[in-house]
Amino acid sequence: MQTFTLVINGQSVAGDNGQFEIRNPATEESLGYAPISSEAQVNAAVAAAKAAQPAWAALPDAERKSYINKIAEVLTANTAYLAEWITREQGKPLAGPGSMFEMQACVGWTQVAGMLELPPEVVFEDATRRDELHRKPIGVVGAIAPWNWPLMIAIWQIIPSLRAGNTVVLKPSEYTPIGTLEMIRLIAAVLPAGVLNTISGAGKVGDTLVRHPDVKKLMFTGSTRTGKRIIEASADNLTRLTLELGGNDAAIVLKDAKAADIAEGLFWGSFINMGQTCACAKRLYVHADIYEEVIAALKAVAEKMPMGDGMQDGIVLGPVQNKMQFDIVCDLVEDAKKLGARIVTGGNPVFGKGNFYPITLVADIKDGARLVDEEQFGPVLPIIKYTNVDEAIRHANRLQAGLGASVWGSDIAQAQQVAQQIEAGTVWINQHGAIHPMVPFGGIKGSGYGVEFGVEGLKAVTVPQVISIKK
Ligand code: NAD
Repeated sequence: MQTFTLVINGQSVAGDNGQFEIRNPATEESLGYAPISSEAQVNAAVAAAKAAQPAWAALPDAERKSYINKIAEVLTANTAYLAEWITREQGKPLAGPGSMFEMQACVGWTQVAGMLELPPEVVFEDATRRDELHRKPIGVVGAIAPWNWPLMIAIWQIIPSLRAGNTVVLKPSEYTPIGTLEMIRLIAAVLPAGVLNTISGAGKVGDTLVRHPDVKKLMFTGSTRTGKRIIEASADNLTRLTLELGGNDAAIVLKDAKAADIAEGLFWGSFINMGQTCACAKRLYVHADIYEEVIAALKAVAEKMPMGDGMQDGIVLGPVQNKMQFDIVCDLVEDAKKLGARIVTGGNPVFGKGNFYPITLVADIKDGARLVDEEQFGPVLPIIKYTNVDEAIRHANRLQAGLGASVWGSDIAQAQQVAQQIEAGTVWINQHGAIHPMVPFGGIKGSGYGVEFGVEGLKAVTVPQVISIKK
């Protein structure tokens, strides 16, 4: 069985603190071993990134752009290979909005970052002075990724950082390291040594990276709990942070929405990647007049979606990625049942091989139930009835989460009015989770701070410098 390797200073190296086994969440077959980095190895990766950074930052902008374009070519050429790793390791199917889609996103986000520009801005000028705002790289960026969209989120962290003249040390999630390590092995081969490095292991390895004084910026995507730990651990070094944390997105269906028109969009907005997506709709608030109609339409869509091993043709929904998350989903559904909620479809784990849990719609449930208030991060959706839109807005805003939200209705002006009252980094209208590489994305409240994507995302991996000239 293969043991996958790290890239440190352009070299493929084994983990010097052992290895751990990775299994396919659909079939339970062993996929190989991932390395565990020692503290010395984390230090070596940061040292390599630090040594490589000045020359990387000094390259003419056009040359760094051309490297980014080379990365896009490598990703394109290896799409099928990497997509298979995503499916076998993470579980999302090759088809549908699955691993081929994740790879297309990797390519797209890379290409767009290659086109972005951050020219100096004249922020003030009069007869006496001229003030220019320049954007400079920060240095070594530490990137820590989760297991839900492992390659795409790693790309979101790596590419803007490199584009802006930083170098990177990335740690993938211990649940999904292989695909990411393989992707970075392929990308790093077309970059100067030390520009992109990997470390691997669980939270302890991430903590060593977070505390390293030569890491000047951390890009973290993961749970709110770990995000808070990272704030504490990085405080001594005043490390800059972008924190993309957990969400519990509300979707509000207004009285004038057409159930048949929105059902498919609502379904994928809630269940893309089996609901294991930060910005999935995780609480659905539906007006009483169309409550049963929306539930019936969603049920019809849910029950026609084939679930299984995502390597097989026609499968569009896979397993839950890991047992820890599977147990959370089981527990939250059981709790909802005890409260007397109505299970519309699903509601019991599928026994046998793999972490399969059916798409589960839970009606007649209220705010305060754990399934509504806690991030389920899985294939279950609570559907809450409301009669007054102000009440729905209040419900949407009552939790600490503030990543995304959506409003569904026929009257766009009214939907927009509702959207403006919701406390979330993004509010979509008649779609949910529709991220785009040119459009800034990030959370507020307990969902973190800072944005990724577009020019705003690029700014987040730079530091501003003002050059002030006396005339
Ligand atoms: P997690 O916080 O458990 O782990 C994320 C990463 O942090 C892993 O690589 C892990 O090894 C590492 N880590 C754990 N403890 C650490 C520590 N003390 N110091 C440094 N690193 C540490 O999160 P997860 O379960 O992998 O991901 C799921 C969560 O991520 C969900 O809450 C989801 O909503 C959130 N998420 C948010 C976004 C977003 O853009 N806002 C995107 C995807 C996922």
